[in-house]
Amino acid sequence: MYSRTVKEVREFLREVKAERKKFLHDLGLKLNQPTMPGETWVRITALGGHREVGRSATLVSTNNSKILVDCGMLNTNEIDEQPWAGAPPYLYVPEVQPFSSLDAVVLTHAHLDHSGLLPPILFKYGYDGPVYMTAPTRDLAALLQQDYIKVAHAEGHKAPYESKHIREMLKHTIVLKYNETTDITRDVRLTFYNAGHILGSASVHLHIGEGALQRCP
Ligand SMILES: [Zn+2]
Repeated sequence: MYSRTVKEVREFLREVKAERKKFLHDLGLKLNQPTMPGETWVRITALGGHREVGRSATLVSTNNSKILVDCGMLNTNEIDEQPWAGAPPYLYVPEVQPFSSLDAVVLTHAHLDHSGLLPPILFKYGYDGPVYMTAPTRDLAALLQQDYIKVAHAEGHKAPYESKHIREMLKHTIVLKYNETTDITRDVRLTFYNAGHILGSASVHLHIGEGALQRCP
């Protein structure tokens, strides 16, 4: 079925292909850097969507990388001032700041409670690295985010971001197929599996280091 969103996303990506080529080239160089020697560790930080519905965001840190999984908004109809701003995840914690210190962002699916604050949080405030998702998630997320701005304006509210931030996200998007494994940082590999939720939705498998369990002495 013909989709104007898919057509526009593809046209835009063709327009910025020179910029994307440079971005992908620089990312490739970064991935090739050696990993830091010493003790290895992994930490998961709950930033939102844990024991609540909405504003999903999880930080996965290792001794070599920082990866943000999802960056959604909370449905804030019950919040009086700025109901359209959407309560963000706890992104002010020092582990996440500055956004430019993140190595990769992974998006599980397009619903706004997972994707809604990706464009403003990341591309308005300093992140310029890759965002990994499936191709349907890319197109659906752009559609939902654009629609969110439209509805906010129609109801006389100021949306927390503009179309240009969505375009910035698209420019940094790297799409993966299900069951396809790729290096996303120096020590982490990502595989998406079909989550059976909405079109393009994925379960995220992060393979860290050599994947071996270290046994305590
Ligand atoms: Zn969902």
